[in-house]
Amino acid sequence: MFIEPEGLYTTEMYLGGMSSSLPEDVQYAMYRTVPGLENVKIVRNAYAIEYDCIDPHQLKHSLEFKEISGLFSAGQINGSSGYEEAAGQGIIAGMNAALFCLGKEPVILDRSQAYIGVLIDDLVTKETTEPYRMMTSRAEYRLVLRQDNADLRLRAIGHDAGLVSDEDYNKMLAKKESIDREVNRLKTTILGGNETVQAFMLKHGSTPLNNGTSLSELMKRPELDYEKLAEIDPERPELPADIVEQVCIQIKYEGYITKQEKQIENFKRLENKKLSPNFDYSTIKGLRKEAIQKLNKIKPASIGQAGRISGVSPADIAVLLVALKA
Ligand SMILES: Cc1cc2nc3c(=O)[nH]c(=O)nc-3n(C[C@H](O)[C@H](O)[C@H](O)COP(=O)(O)OP(=O)(O)OC[C@H]3O[C@@H](n4cnc5c(N)ncnc54)[C@H](O)[C@@H]3O)c2cc1C
Repeated sequence: MFIEPEGLYTTEMYLGGMSSSLPEDVQYAMYRTVPGLENVKIVRNAYAIEYDCIDPHQLKHSLEFKEISGLFSAGQINGSSGYEEAAGQGIIAGMNAALFCLGKEPVILDRSQAYIGVLIDDLVTKETTEPYRMMTSRAEYRLVLRQDNADLRLRAIGHDAGLVSDEDYNKMLAKKESIDREVNRLKTTILGGNETVQAFMLKHGSTPLNNGTSLSELMKRPELDYEKLAEIDPERPELPADIVEQVCIQIKYEGYITKQEKQIENFKRLENKKLSPNFDYSTIKGLRKEAIQKLNKIKPASIGQAGRISGVSPADIAVLLVALKA
């Protein structure tokens, strides 16, 4: 809980972390249990807002209604709450409504590409009984969903959809090329254990080299970094800060990122096994009743999505995979 002063010229405080919509007398009883707030006076009671929403299972990942072609839906009417949640859906629904009018394929971001992908997939797949809030912990691939790489992840998609100018797109391509070139240089520049290098290692409390080691391997040592290595890296080009940042992240965390990329490959394999929106799951022998009901209600777009429906077990997915093969 935080007690935050509302301003310099007021004695009002905001009580953060103790939200409530209970009746006033209950709020008094509750807040006065907090040590230091025994005599608290409430200037404005805590309150909640109630609003209606649709069942988001009626939507495709494009945010178009499954049953109403050409109608797209975004924002808290879909069961979310929040500014970013509304804006994130708004850009997808707006983009896809425009693409629909142009007779083009919709843009769908998956869970490994963007938080928007996680948000929409959760809304259209899971049973959300409370207003949905986007939290980093909901994203299983959050190591790659970073704000520092948003342009590298998403700009090509925006460009394909006609939302990003050629100029901005080309800027991203040039940036990517510079990053790749520098990462490659660091991986292929091998240092031997000569006197200068060993003295450098000693100075920074790092183990001396026994054999040829690449600059990128050295960067991964906790006591060394890109800045420090400049001393023994005379070939280093002058690079803008945003490129250096990406180079450092990509090399320092390479092991973890590669691991996550493998998980993403597995995820994509299941996402690419498409399911028909018209399929009747009661025709599959061996599926449990609950799974049949859930699958028929949600009509998942892929095996991957089917596996994320609560009430559909890994055993049901195995049955589904066999049926799909047949
Ligand atoms: C008091 C309060 C504080 C909040 N604080 C925060 C916060 O700090 N951070 C945060 O992230 N979120 C906050 N939220 C939640 C956030 O504001 C909403 O979830 C978000 O704005 C929803 O955006 P939206 O575009 O989906 O809906 P809305 O912003 O409600 O937009 C819907 C629009 O549709 C219009 N409309 C309705 N019916 C019709 C009709 N028949 N024809 C034409 N137009 C119609 C409405 O007038 C409205 O302009 C707060 C909400 C409230 C009420």
